[in-house]
Amino acid sequence: MNVAEPLSESKSPVVVLSGPSGSGKTTIVHRLLRESPVRLEMSISATTRPRRPQEVHGRDYYFLAPEEFERRRLAGEFLECAEVHRSGFWYGTLHSELDRARSLGAWPLLEIDVEGALNVMQAYPDALSIFLTTPADQHEARLRARGTESEEVIQRRLQTARNELQLADSYRYRVVNDDLDRAVREICAIIAQQEARLNAG
Ligand code: 5GP
Repeated sequence: MNVAEPLSESKSPVVVLSGPSGSGKTTIVHRLLRESPVRLEMSISATTRPRRPQEVHGRDYYFLAPEEFERRRLAGEFLECAEVHRSGFWYGTLHSELDRARSLGAWPLLEIDVEGALNVMQAYPDALSIFLTTPADQHEARLRARGTESEEVIQRRLQTARNELQLADSYRYRVVNDDLDRAVREICAIIAQQEARLNAG
């Protein structure tokens, strides 16, 4: 049996990935979980947003009632949390998710919005923060192709995307998802470089 050694915090930097809706984040995340040179474990966020039909509690999100979310927030269980897209729904990263990844010998991978990412970068200045962009004219088409959101939600997300782009400079790395394979290779190279640095130090 292949039992992974738990990793200490210093040997397991947090990988934070953000980008506008429609930047192909979800596809990139799936590829990274398979192809990264270092084992990554997805941090499963908690949210008060209702579950979509295909989503599974504990796999896509921990779907919490607003009262439960608030109780855990007040108990200090979140590394960061925010109301995203002015939707009225809360999203947050639980400290226990970072511990879970490290206990598996993996680096935690967080796919979160910019506000959350900035908070994580403050808590973990060594975080590997990556902002994903896509040629601007594709955002709207991809968002619409998904067909799961109303026009109002789409407009709100496009505005969020425009705001988020202005904050991209705060990230350590910016990767353009113009070509999926190339973008995945670039992120894998960033991760490999960080691992080499950690092993050297
Ligand atoms: P969705 O509702 O489409 O699954 O996600 C909406 C947004 O919530 C995305 O922009 C995603 O980045 C953000 N999000 C997901 N999990 C978290 C989290 O744990 N913290 C924060 N701050 N944002 C999150």
